[in-house]
This record gives sequence, C-alpha cells and structure tokens, in this order.
Amino acid sequence: MKQAAVPRAVVFDLGKVLIDFDYGILARRMAPQSAIPADAILAVVNQTPLLHRYETGLMSDREFFEAVVAATGFRGGETEFLAWFGDIFTEIGPMVALQQALVGRGVPTYVFSNTNAQAIRHVRQSFPFYRQFTGEVLSYEVRSMKPDTRIYEAVEAVSGFSGEDLLYLDDRSENIAAGAGRGWQAWIHDDPRQTVPRVSALMGLEAGTIPVAGS
Ligand SMILES: [Mg+2]
Repeated sequence: MKQAAVPRAVVFDLGKVLIDFDYGILARRMAPQSAIPADAILAVVNQTPLLHRYETGLMSDREFFEAVVAATGFRGGETEFLAWFGDIFTEIGPMVALQQALVGRGVPTYVFSNTNAQAIRHVRQSFPFYRQFTGEVLSYEVRSMKPDTRIYEAVEAVSGFSGEDLLYLDDRSENIAAGAGRGWQAWIHDDPRQTVPRVSALMGLEAGTIPVAGS
C-alpha cells in the first residue's frame, strides 16, 4: 500500500473538534424571559431551519434575533441575546494544543466551519488559538454549508492546496466523506486520545509533547 503523503496544511472543523458548544446554556438563560420553556427554546435555536439560514449567511444578526423573538416570546434585548448566543463555547484542550503544535512547526492551519457571525466574533475574541489560523472558511461568509461542494472549493482556493496535501479533521461523517471524495486526507474526529497521536505521527510532531488527558 502506498504510504500517505505528509499533508502540507491541516484543515480543522471548529465545533466538537476545537471547541465544544452547548446551546442549552443559552436556552436556560433565555427561559425566565420567554414565553416557552428552555427545552422548547433549545429546539428553536438549535434544530430549526432558522439556524441553518443564519449560518448560510441568508439572515443578518438582527433578522435572526427577530425570528428567535417571534418563536420564543423572548422579552430581553438584542445585545443581551447576542452576548449569550456567543457565550456557549469551551475549548477542547488537547486539540487546541495540537493546532498550536502545528502552528509552531510552521504548518498552515485553516478553520472550516458551519457557523455564524456572532459565534465567530465571540470565539475570535475569547480564544487566542483562533487568531493563529492561517485562514478561515466560514459558511455564513461563503454562503454554503458543509457538505456542499462550494465550501470545499473555497478551502482549496483560500489555502492554495488540494488533494492529499490537505489533512482535514471533522466530527461529522458526511463532511469527512465530501472531503475524502475530493482526494483530501480526511479523518473523522471522535476522541483527542486517538486524533492527537495519529496526526502527530503523520505530521512528524514529537510524540508525547501534546497532553491528551482531559480537555
Ligand atoms: Mg463539528
């Protein structure tokens, strides 16, 4: 079997790869000022076509807020809502350490995320690792969501790399399948205890320098 080429750039999904998120935090904060309970609010912000439209860049922050108010009866302000909406993230330590090790080695890294403007404003401000990416491909800017072809083409255009020069990590199998279909080295991410050693070995990072216990 042909040995895998050493990738020249690493493409990271954001949610559930580098940062964890929990819209339940937002729903619980909104509930006391809303017409419906927290679990129903969660369904509105997390599972409806609303978030999909926001993350495809088809709605502004204001339009998204107004649609959430209409669906939940939320009585708080837009500023308060947007601050809470952004504040649902926690860093996944070992994966951030992996990205930092790659940056330290001069490997270009890219963020490749289905996300929205408010989330990215918050993440950029709160997590220093985010500012070290070489480039970013974000669904709401590209107006295309993984696993659609167009957003993968954007990664190739932004990075200047394609095929096996790209190593791509994502927690969703349909996204990985689309990357693999383009010839990228695309790996499903589940657990840092598997991903960190595997990426370290492929990229020639010094074994054991990245802590994988805890996050
Ligand atoms: Mg993800």
